[in-house]
Amino acid sequence: MNSAQASMAINIRQVGVIGGGQLAWMMREAAQQLGLEVVVQTPHTTDPALSNHLQSESALAVKAVLAPVDDAVATARLAAQCQVITFENEFVDLDALRALETKGVCFRPGLSVLAALLDKYEQRYFLRSLGIPVPAFSVITPQTDLSDLGFSFPVVIKSRRHGYDGQGTFVIHDAAELSQFWQGFAHEPTHLDQRFMVEAFVPFERELAVMAARSPTGEIALYPAVETYQEQQVCRWAIAPVTLSPTTQAQIQNIATQLLEKLEAIGIFGIELFLTPDGQVFVNEIAPRTHNSGHLTIDACNTSQFEQHLRAVCGLPLGDPALHTAGAVMVNLLGFETAVSDYVEQRQRLAAVPNATVHWYGKADAKPGRKLGHVTVLLDNSKRETAVAMAQHIESLWYPI
Ligand code: ADP
Repeated sequence: MNSAQASMAINIRQVGVIGGGQLAWMMREAAQQLGLEVVVQTPHTTDPALSNHLQSESALAVKAVLAPVDDAVATARLAAQCQVITFENEFVDLDALRALETKGVCFRPGLSVLAALLDKYEQRYFLRSLGIPVPAFSVITPQTDLSDLGFSFPVVIKSRRHGYDGQGTFVIHDAAELSQFWQGFAHEPTHLDQRFMVEAFVPFERELAVMAARSPTGEIALYPAVETYQEQQVCRWAIAPVTLSPTTQAQIQNIATQLLEKLEAIGIFGIELFLTPDGQVFVNEIAPRTHNSGHLTIDACNTSQFEQHLRAVCGLPLGDPALHTAGAVMVNLLGFETAVSDYVEQRQRLAAVPNATVHWYGKADAKPGRKLGHVTVLLDNSKRETAVAMAQHIESLWYPI
């Protein structure tokens, strides 16, 4: 079934999800409420989308294709069990999937949408071609002279593919750091031509993000923007609502709408933004899927990002994205111990915070820095100070002093 035919079909019952991490797990939870069945393609039964359900349901009730996410032969098996296939991560083999799309497999978002976004350099290029503001950027190799290209330090070097949670993003402050960076790849010099891009460091005042969904009929739903806070390039927390000038608000809405319409995108998209002290907005990154910055939608919005994504890819009417609380804060629970730990004590402390919901991903190995869960706390006011103080309180309960 192709995308157009699928949009006519009123009865999508099985949704294939490539990837089995926490995003797929939370999508499964939302699918149950919608009466849909999710079948994941993931290599390990210990991955969150399988292990959490295997503990609570009979193993037979949990359908999966046990294979790496870039195994397109396995995706063909997934397609045989589902009417539509979507993605929870970007580590796919697009060329191999195209053969399936040609044979009629319905991917949402479509592969042409992913093709525009998966490579960070191509993504920047695409956004700039739409007139959407992005930081100055270029390809970079060890031979590149940054001053010839008009860059001055600091700059940010990024892996063009497969970066996540700040892995693959490097802030470079001076020439010595740059040379040290390249030395790290001295053993693999032949692969460096297309591996990285460089961009101007944006001295942002705040980082923002907005989740945006579009259905096959062109219906669009934009979530309230959130403020996110990153340390060492990893998201620590997100808060909503965020007070913005009407101009900035309108600009963000225009960026999100324009992007979804130009791409004819189907599904939910995470749009990460930089807001500078003088009110300029730059797009940092578009994720063609559910996103960490949208996790608070589960507890704080009328429709969670996971339900919204499923609604979009199944051709159902989109849900109301509005907040149903005065304010909310989401804090990521990052691993901090090398030893295997399930952090029971810390989780109990967090669960005792009034209006808090702990989402624990049940990962088999709790490496330092790994996202093991998140907590959302609903707040009785929309003040930024209240939300930031709550984020700090949650972190003080989670991390050792
Ligand atoms: P990932 O895709 O791994 O999440 P990002 O490219 O989104 O990585 O970068 C992670 C974080 O690094 C951002 O949230 C931001 O804090 C910082 N960062 C990335 N690019 C820039 C930039 N051009 N200027 C300033 N900070 C940046």
